[in-house]
Amino acid sequence: MFKLDKLSARYDTASGYVNAVNNINLEIQRNEIFGIAGESGCGKSTLLKVMYDLIDFPLEISAGEASIEYRDHDGTAKILKSGEIRKIWWKKMSYIPQGAMHVMNPVTRISGQFMDTVGKHGKLKDKKQLRAEITKYLQELDLPAAALDAYPHQLSGGMRQRVLIALATFLSPEIILADEPTTALDVVVQRGILMMLRRTQRKMGNSIIIVTHDMGVHYQITDRVGIMYAGEMVEAGPTTEIFDKPAHPYTQMLIAALPRLGDNSQKEGIPGTPPNLRLVIKGCRFAERCPHCRERCRLEEPGTFTVSPGHTAACHLLEGAGK
Ligand code: ADP
Ligand code: MG
Repeated sequence: MFKLDKLSARYDTASGYVNAVNNINLEIQRNEIFGIAGESGCGKSTLLKVMYDLIDFPLEISAGEASIEYRDHDGTAKILKSGEIRKIWWKKMSYIPQGAMHVMNPVTRISGQFMDTVGKHGKLKDKKQLRAEITKYLQELDLPAAALDAYPHQLSGGMRQRVLIALATFLSPEIILADEPTTALDVVVQRGILMMLRRTQRKMGNSIIIVTHDMGVHYQITDRVGIMYAGEMVEAGPTTEIFDKPAHPYTQMLIAALPRLGDNSQKEGIPGTPPNLRLVIKGCRFAERCPHCRERCRLEEPGTFTVSPGHTAACHLLEGAGK
């Protein structure tokens, strides 16, 4: 239903291109939570912007394409590509940008934020009726109806994030894109929000693409996960497989760095830094930091190998595992 076909995107800056997203292939199915993981700066937010068709200067697609296939209200199948996806914002696809809870319009009550966005796109034009619908929906999500009359600053960070999720899901879109929706919130609030997201998704049967650098969040909520490194998706597969049998050395290191119950040993981050995305990168992007790096890795870019059905990884070590 949502497809990325050899997609690359870059920022056109005064000092050259920043190649933030490189050659990504991905299919998102209906009724799943797909997670995008990876260290800061690896292109997660850029990828989400491209998926949402929020492609404004200096961001541009440099190769490949993004498309969404869906059924219209009369049942006919439709395919929209980048540049057209905007037509179905809110109704079929919604987006919670990174840090959104900090940039809500401070002088607009929550009710106004709803009217300004979903009011324009929904079928209900009568304000009173729409307000009643929104109130009912907030209650379904265990949010107090009184939140509607509040200004953003009067709500806690967790409550603001819940309101944003309510806003993004109100019109039952088929795809919801959420960029770091729980980052900077404490663990208990975070858990509550993740459970709310999952409940909503299971009920609607739609898809959520959730971006976070926090592997623990992916473990808790996603069905599948894709690991990004320096603009590429180096591994993707069912979440349980990725955590039990990570195939790419980068994923293995991300998972080894996770704290485990009963293990108080100091966990180390991954030494080194990712390559500069302004430069042309030769060979494997992870070579510099990889404990298994061989000469070939510095010279040749690895292909993508199938580790098991639905589980792929891009690493020379996997050659022979099938292609
Ligand atoms: P992530 O969300 O994984 O932290 P981003 O998608 O935000 O990563 O960034 C990917 C790369 O693109 C980084 O190198 C970042 O510095 C660069 N980048 C992001 N936004 C811009 C911009 N507006 N102009 C130029 N470079 C940008
Ligand atoms: Mg980001």
